Amino acid sequence: MSHGEPNNDQGAPDGTNATLSSPISPDGTPILDRTYEVPAREALAFRLTAGQTIRIVNTFGSQVADFWAFSEEDPREYLSMEHLRPSLKRMAPKAGDKLVTNRRRPILTLTTDTSPGVHDTLIASCDIHRYHQLGVDGYHDNCTDNLRMALLAIGRRAREIPCPLNLWMNTPPQPDGSIAWLEPVSKPGDSVDMRAEMNCIAVISSCPMDILPINGVDATPRALHVMVHA
Ligand SMILES: [Zn+2]
Repeated sequence: MSHGEPNNDQGAPDGTNATLSSPISPDGTPILDRTYEVPAREALAFRLTAGQTIRIVNTFGSQVADFWAFSEEDPREYLSMEHLRPSLKRMAPKAGDKLVTNRRRPILTLTTDTSPGVHDTLIASCDIHRYHQLGVDGYHDNCTDNLRMALLAIGRRAREIPCPLNLWMNTPPQPDGSIAWLEPVSKPGDSVDMRAEMNCIAVISSCPMDILPINGVDATPRALHVMVHA
């Protein structure tokens, strides 16, 4: 790990971890049906061909997955939460929903969700600034840098940091307009399947948050598992 200096390159991480040097393959192409581990506090990028299904497994039940998807052809097009919510007229997607980009085109379809379906579409990914705000001194693994590193590891670069689909994150808006910060209601082995509607690059970060209880009451980040099926 290093504690990077501020820079003006959106694609450059503020610090690093093993994500930078452990892609699933040089260009992110997965071996179909193989189980990949996204280690606690790290991220992996997967190159998906239209029609393939990516499964994300909450192996230990309490882990939030920050999820992004970018068009393979044009990384300026990506899964966009602020375009998704009006498309669905819901706060979070459920099985059968098409997940749209900032150009309002489906990039994935959420085909199966074995969890209670509690996911967040409102909260920015954690970053070094968030941890400094929470009192951390020096570097702390974070989902924003994980996204940057997962893309760099397959020869790509983040042009921007879209709001992620925060799978299993339980931060519901309240009737009084406030947002609650709660532990996940998912159970060990719960999974979400998403079918690619266009060639795209999906990135999954096992959120390293260990201060707030969003990764469970013990605030302990854990691994996730991912498979890609034809
Ligand atoms: Zn995070």
